[in-house]
Amino acid sequence: MTAAVLAGAPAAQALLGEARRRAAALPVRPHLHLIRVGQDPASLSYVRGKDRQAREAGLRSTVHALPEDVALPALLALLDHLSADPEAHGILVQLPLPPHLPPAAVQAATDPRKDVDGFHPLNVGRLWAGQPGLAPCTALGILALLRHYGQPLSGRSAVVVGRSPIVGRPVAGLLLAADATVTVAHLRTPDLGRVTRDADVLIVAAGQPHLITADMVRPGAAVVDVGIHRLTGPGGAPHLTGDVHPGVAQVAGALTPVPGGVGPMTVAQLLLNTVQAAEAQLGRSAA
Ligand code: NAD
Repeated sequence: MTAAVLAGAPAAQALLGEARRRAAALPVRPHLHLIRVGQDPASLSYVRGKDRQAREAGLRSTVHALPEDVALPALLALLDHLSADPEAHGILVQLPLPPHLPPAAVQAATDPRKDVDGFHPLNVGRLWAGQPGLAPCTALGILALLRHYGQPLSGRSAVVVGRSPIVGRPVAGLLLAADATVTVAHLRTPDLGRVTRDADVLIVAAGQPHLITADMVRPGAAVVDVGIHRLTGPGGAPHLTGDVHPGVAQVAGALTPVPGGVGPMTVAQLLLNTVQAAEAQLGRSAA
């Protein structure tokens, strides 16, 4: 048996279509502000992609490129300004930040109604309290991907490997809200395979290439591979791989590819979050 491929592109297109439709129904174009600090090549490329896709989806997008040595008060002043600006609907500060800028201070400085990354403590609390709000994009994208392919969650055993605030924790909260029975495993979990073999739905966000091997997966399970790593192949050619060993495809019922699985969902969900934030600020929805 080979696992069904849970490709991200069609599911991301569905989210982008929804973002485009809902944005077009608003009296103003939702405006996303992307802030990046320094010249980290990955951050440059992520912000460029988000900016381009926002425009393609009919949103306005502005990139604020700040120097590597920008002082914390200057960054906080920009966040204050954008938080107070009625024409700014979504604000995202691209991570990682240089060491002199503590992410927690930056995340707490964004108006929670405009916090389209869902990292503000108020939004984190809302997620865990089961209340409506803005939730982190990769976690929402994973749930949207599973729903797109009709993977049931209610009453199922879901195991999340990884407890980062960006992926592991929020995806666990969303799975709980979807009525799954949720276990979170992490670096200190002894005998990881014993835990992961219990999963009907296995989400892997550990940042360790090929951590999950076929013997650690229940036959027929749905497996979501969030990890993304650039490895060098035998011929020296670079290739991308995930946290899940390719052999898992022989055991799992469904598996996300890397690349092309979770990746496209994250940006699509960011745009949907921006539209949701704009709707709420314009009095068009409860969230
Ligand atoms: P992180 O390093 O912040 O967190 C990793 C988590 O995995 C930690 O909680 C740690 O306890 C756990 N972990 C590490 N090694 C483990 C092990 N051997 N056994 C069990 N648990 C272990 O990483 P992150 O930000 O959550 O990202 C995880 C991966 O997902 C990375 O490869 C990252 O590049 C990728 N990622 C992809 C997207 C996307 O859109 N596709 C978005 C965010 C992150």
